[in-house]
Amino acid sequence: MNANEYQQLAARTLIEKPDFEISPEEVMISWMAIGLAGEAGEVADLIKKGIYHQQGIDKDKIKKELGDVLWYLSGLAKQMGFTLEEVMEQNINKLKARFPEGYSAERTTFREGDAE
Ligand SMILES: [Mg+2]
Repeated sequence: MNANEYQQLAARTLIEKPDFEISPEEVMISWMAIGLAGEAGEVADLIKKGIYHQQGIDKDKIKKELGDVLWYLSGLAKQMGFTLEEVMEQNINKLKARFPEGYSAERTTFREGDAE
């Protein structure tokens, strides 16, 4: 298989354009979600370069990128109608339920509903 054959075969499952309208609210939600993923990728790349390229961990750059992650997280939460406080509290409550005695490796096995 060459690249063009792959592209033609892959295109069988590709839509040219959506057959639905996207609301301005959905544009903002997807904008924030894509931005959040992109900024998290920037953090991961800095960690990758720091450890695997042996460039050292640049904590100042990581702090700046974490700020970018936070910006998109805050924006996404706002678009979804959540306060950051609500997100934080729900997360801590989930962690308390999952790890009532604190972290343990045995309790990290995936269970249905964990990703919720
Ligand atoms: Mg950034």
